[in-house]
Amino acid sequence: MAIPKDVRIDLSPEDIPKRWYNLAADIGELKPPLNPGTREPAKPEDFDPIFCKEIIRQEGSTERYVDIPEEVRDSLIYLNRPAPLQRAYRLEKHLKTPAKIFYKREDMSPLGSHKGNTALAQAYYNAEAGVHTLTTETGAGQWGTALAMVSNLFDIDTTVFMVKGSYIAKPLRKTIINTYGATIHASPSAQTEFGRKILKEHPETSGSLGIAISEACEVAAKDENTCYSLGSVLNHVMLHQSVIGLETMQQLEIAEVEPDYVIACAGGGSNFAGLTFPMIGEKIRGRGFENTEFIAVEPDAAPSLTKGEFKYDFGDTAGFTPLLMMYTLGSEFVPPSIHAGGLRYHGMSPLVSAAYDMDMVSARSYDQTETFAAGLLMARTEGIIPAPESCHALKAAIDVALECKERNEEKSIVFGLSGHGLLDLYGYEQYLEGTLPSSAKL
Ligand SMILES: *Cc1c(COP(=O)(O)O)cnc(C)c1O
Repeated sequence: MAIPKDVRIDLSPEDIPKRWYNLAADIGELKPPLNPGTREPAKPEDFDPIFCKEIIRQEGSTERYVDIPEEVRDSLIYLNRPAPLQRAYRLEKHLKTPAKIFYKREDMSPLGSHKGNTALAQAYYNAEAGVHTLTTETGAGQWGTALAMVSNLFDIDTTVFMVKGSYIAKPLRKTIINTYGATIHASPSAQTEFGRKILKEHPETSGSLGIAISEACEVAAKDENTCYSLGSVLNHVMLHQSVIGLETMQQLEIAEVEPDYVIACAGGGSNFAGLTFPMIGEKIRGRGFENTEFIAVEPDAAPSLTKGEFKYDFGDTAGFTPLLMMYTLGSEFVPPSIHAGGLRYHGMSPLVSAAYDMDMVSARSYDQTETFAAGLLMARTEGIIPAPESCHALKAAIDVALECKERNEEKSIVFGLSGHGLLDLYGYEQYLEGTLPSSAKL
């Protein structure tokens, strides 16, 4: 059984993209964010208290391509870019599917996830603007870790508000974030007015991303040289993550594959957007990917695309952020504590939401028990333990591969392995012991 030569497609550092791709250029008119006070379209100045100028400019940009600053491009090498595109050959054999399954390896970053791609760009622009401190929220801890790490490259201090449920469940995340030199608080915290209010009203709460965002924004708004940094959802984050898909397109060209399915998990939507948007852009412009289906995968516990409503809603719980036109479960919805903490968000990126609304993208959702079963299979065939979030994309890829088997179709599937699960072994432990609760029981 010879291993095929497309088992791993590597690029060299010169192949790191020179510009990011922006789907806002090709998707048509988007509904603008609204000022939370007046409910009128937000003006760029409305974002001044929390974001630096270049980030605000990118957020509203409809340019198709944005040059990646040389310093950012060079620093992407620290994150082990370009990331390999690998073929899950042993998984295919195990499934006895005629389909080819490729996966894009964001797990190779020293941070263990894709989040560093935007953290780097955001830290760079803030440092350029003279910002000395960045505040942020984190769910499972991946985003806080990413921002804490890259802050060192640009001499910035970082303060992280981590959702209390995860803070307690994943104590080593705090250690990692502290090791990188950042400050971390369990949210809701006594550090902010909003945190104190929530603690008073709901002393037992396990917190939520929405609450943590409110706390981080409150701190940023109070100091001129402190800005807020968001790890997903917003347009500029989708832009920075496009390196994933731009690299993947080069790799698919080398493999001479035009995928039938491109699949990624979606929490706020950034790894999904990063992988798929450059291809969706080509499809819209009639330059390929005509028959490719793009599938976003979410947890049953936070099904914003599959069960949410497309409407204006706040990005946070307090209602500090502008209203975004997105698929949402309501900004007060607190998703149950599933292990895939990065997917526990009430809304979805406005760009991903628009693409879904236009039927450019489809969506599925899964219970966490079935996603961990998929993770185990990946570990035992490919040797990689995927992040609980990535297990959602993997589960969908396996299901599609099995559908191909039934129809005896030699299709090709690409899924995003957004991160590894070596820092999230509690979920695997529960699964192995048979005590992992179904999402419906949380
Ligand atoms: C944060 C995270 C996600 C979800 O966030 P998106 O913005 O939807 O990509 C997915 N996978 C991993 C490993 C994460 O850390």
